[in-house]
Amino acid sequence: MFAPSHIELSKSAFRQNVKFLRDYIGKDVTFCSVIKGNAYGHGIEQFVPMAEECGISHFAVFSADEARLACKHKNKADSHVMIMGMIGNEEIEWAIEQDVSFYIFELDRLKKTVEQAKRLEKPARIHLHLETGMNRLGLDNSKLKEAVEMIRKNDELLSVDGICTHYAGAESVSNHVRVTEQIENFKSYCSYLQEEGIEAKWNHTACSAATLNYPETIMDMVRIGIAQYGFWPNRETYMKFLKNHSDFDKLHEDPLRRVMSWKSRVMSTKTVDAGEFIGYGTTYQTSRKEKIASVPIGYSHGFKRNLTNIGIVLVNGERAPVAGLVNMNLLTVDVTDIPGVSKGDEVVIIGHQGDKEMSVASFSEMTNYLNYEVLVQIPSRLPRHIVE
Ligand SMILES: *Cc1c(COP(=O)(O)O)cnc(C)c1O
Repeated sequence: MFAPSHIELSKSAFRQNVKFLRDYIGKDVTFCSVIKGNAYGHGIEQFVPMAEECGISHFAVFSADEARLACKHKNKADSHVMIMGMIGNEEIEWAIEQDVSFYIFELDRLKKTVEQAKRLEKPARIHLHLETGMNRLGLDNSKLKEAVEMIRKNDELLSVDGICTHYAGAESVSNHVRVTEQIENFKSYCSYLQEEGIEAKWNHTACSAATLNYPETIMDMVRIGIAQYGFWPNRETYMKFLKNHSDFDKLHEDPLRRVMSWKSRVMSTKTVDAGEFIGYGTTYQTSRKEKIASVPIGYSHGFKRNLTNIGIVLVNGERAPVAGLVNMNLLTVDVTDIPGVSKGDEVVIIGHQGDKEMSVASFSEMTNYLNYEVLVQIPSRLPRHIVE
């Protein structure tokens, strides 16, 4: 095994999330699995084939390098990869050859796409990303007319897979006015494009939060990131969902299951007298005779230094608090009150052990990071295994 800790991906948890989300969006809507950020830390290499086995055939990445990785690890010929963000003009040729679709939010990219498609004698699959109010990326009114002319003129070189946009914070009611305006703007853009004879295979706008909070944004395809991994975009979205779906509330059961666990082992234990300092410096002093276990995980693995004396891991089904500084490759935990801890015992950093759970949410509440941010910081070099 060699690695000091590893990631497990639960296929049954993922299957459950996909089932819940598919039931919710309806069977005619395409489920696009968002796998940017190394599949939110889950690992593109392992996640993509697992998702394919669970019936997913549309994947979205941020950039061309991620697309390349996804193409390398997908096993099904009809699985499609879509780039939502960065692709250099020099990579467009590759994308067309590989049947990878990509967003168009600039005329320059559109021009280069037409040139390359002409040269390759193969149509490029594109998504028109419209500016509806996020003011980040997206074709706005001033450019759209020219884009439309270019698309109509090069009809045989461009296949319009999608017309799309992205919402500026659909997880929070504080953005309600802005998001609602975006939905309206998108609709009027679609009418305009339709009048101009441009219709896409998929109109798609919804991320997890929009899907759950604004069902009218679901359209032909949803781009689901965080929810498929078993996390609500935020607490507000979860509370709102429970309120509107009292059947779930009654069951008190979260329909989403965490796909990822992060596990290690006790490397060594030692007993230390009262009044001693543990590890570097003086951040932690024993208040009694304590049993300390060392775990081969540190800030180089994404276990943040600011979890010093604050973080918690699970050992033998109990919560063990971090005692002392988090080191680069190592942390020390107090296991005095957990009977029989010894070298080789499983340590859970994220996930279940016995009837206890360390969620990324509790992990991130301790550090004030979002689920998203904590997940993507889990290093890609840790081995990842699929478990049933
Ligand atoms: C990241 C992303 C998504 C998915 O967002 P989640 O909140 O994780 O569901 C959808 N669309 C775009 C354009 C994104 O960048």
